[in-house]
Amino acid sequence: MHDVVIVGAGPVGLFLACELGLAGCSVLVLEREPEPRTPWRSFPLGMRGLSGGSVEAFYRRGMLAPLLAASGVDERPVTDEPAPPRSAGHFAGTPVDPADVDLARLPYRLPSPALDGIMTSLEAVETVLAERADKLGVEIRRGVPVTAITQDAPVAVAWAGEQEYPARWLVGCDGGRSTVRRLAGFEFAGTEPQLTGYLALVTLAEPGLLAPGFTVTPQGMYLTMSEPGHLGVMDFDGGAYDRSRPPAREHLQSVLRRVSGTDVMIGEVHFASTFTDRAKQATTYRRDRILLAGDAAHIHSPLGGQGLNLGLGDAMNLGWKLAATVAERAPAGLLDTYTAERHPVGAWVLDWSRAQVATMRPDPHSRAIRSVVRDLLATRDGTTYVFERTSGTSLHYDLGEPGLAGHNAPDFALANGTRVGDLLQDGLGVALDFGVDGPLREVVLRYRDRIRYVAGPARDHLGFGAVLVRPDGIVAWAGDRVPDPGSFERAVRRWFST
Ligand SMILES: Cc1cc2nc3c(=O)[nH]c(=O)nc-3n(C[C@H](O)[C@H](O)[C@H](O)COP(=O)(O)OP(=O)(O)OC[C@H]3O[C@@H](n4cnc5c(N)ncnc54)[C@H](O)[C@@H]3O)c2cc1C
Repeated sequence: MHDVVIVGAGPVGLFLACELGLAGCSVLVLEREPEPRTPWRSFPLGMRGLSGGSVEAFYRRGMLAPLLAASGVDERPVTDEPAPPRSAGHFAGTPVDPADVDLARLPYRLPSPALDGIMTSLEAVETVLAERADKLGVEIRRGVPVTAITQDAPVAVAWAGEQEYPARWLVGCDGGRSTVRRLAGFEFAGTEPQLTGYLALVTLAEPGLLAPGFTVTPQGMYLTMSEPGHLGVMDFDGGAYDRSRPPAREHLQSVLRRVSGTDVMIGEVHFASTFTDRAKQATTYRRDRILLAGDAAHIHSPLGGQGLNLGLGDAMNLGWKLAATVAERAPAGLLDTYTAERHPVGAWVLDWSRAQVATMRPDPHSRAIRSVVRDLLATRDGTTYVFERTSGTSLHYDLGEPGLAGHNAPDFALANGTRVGDLLQDGLGVALDFGVDGPLREVVLRYRDRIRYVAGPARDHLGFGAVLVRPDGIVAWAGDRVPDPGSFERAVRRWFST
């Protein structure tokens, strides 16, 4: 029997598998598809934007260089001062100018090798993660569609036909139409679609008839991407289109003509699929021994490119908590903080995608909202607001502590050049002591199998004397220039003691 069975070897299942493997759990991943590579996962159809926060997660596990290499992105030199972001995304098709981001409003943004988001593909991300999972001893079985699950404490079982796969914990990372979610009886609540989206790779007779980038029209919205013939179309049909089959050429052409208001001719359709803006979320991410992460826990429109980033955040948050639970050294209630912390983040992303749909609708009210949004995005405050929210910079869990606690840890660098990102690579917590080596070390000594203690002056300590960072890179506690060992010890106990 395995400690954990993960259903789904998408990016979220694989990231979680790596987290659990790193912590020494025995992990089996069951994947329905026999082969890892499909046109939907490779460039251009599988192209995905990773936020700075997601890139940082790879950095913190020593996977930054392989990720950049697999994505065809150059490594970036670390600057002395925090650099402006290289991209800031868009809101409802209105681009956000990265040069306008107000760095003074991002006080915890220290120079780091992983400050920026990148463009990559699902295939690149999954290749990097599958290789790492393999090195960590994770077993991935492909061509195994899970069709049933049962729970009989202390065991959960995934079934693929007659074959059973028992485990102490089972995690559904099986995407938006999750079988695990349905079979385990998770409530999935939210809003029904307003649109049908089409994504296609086609040959166009006259590509010049379509404008580059996002174009909102009186009938909907279309998007042309850098690869010729790679198109997105949004038709506000109330989600009425029957999505059980890929759209035929004639249908695609008629929707594209109507929405774009052009006489564009589609020659050949190489690939076509549909999506909607249905926005739903599991009301809890845990039912006894069964958990959900990634699209299995939440679905929304792909507008604004958030789903993968949200799912990787789930995996980073869940991995160390589940591993501590498996090892029977988790503080009481630790695993339940997974839903408590990640559900609000998911709910926010669903609202962010709803806000974009509401802004793009082809009606007079939405047109009026678009004009207001465009004006706001032309301001520094508006730009910074969108960047903070879509880059992962504003991520914050309410730990009931003021200040830095609950925020993503700044990439503090010690005088010898070692950074928080380096120190987190083995998946332990990190106690960084910028002051006198002594009292805090005494506390950490009792937990040295869970927390790494590092003392020394930092290049920029942002006014803090010491910080305790959880394995997922979230600050559990931050002390003043002269930290109080008592409050430090309480934080250590809260997150790390049995
Ligand atoms: C057009 C488009 C563009 C997007 N752009 C972005 C972007 O730029 N940035 C971003 O952050 N997000 C983006 N997203 C969203 C992102 O792709 C998803 O959120 C992400 O892939 C979810 O990962 P996952 O691992 O949770 O699920 P998936 O990637 O869906 O993986 C689930 C895996 O589970 C397997 N599976 C399913 N059922 C079973 C079963 N019964 N048994 C065994 N295995 C099973 C599947 O085969 C699959 O391999 C986009 C989505 C679309 C459609």
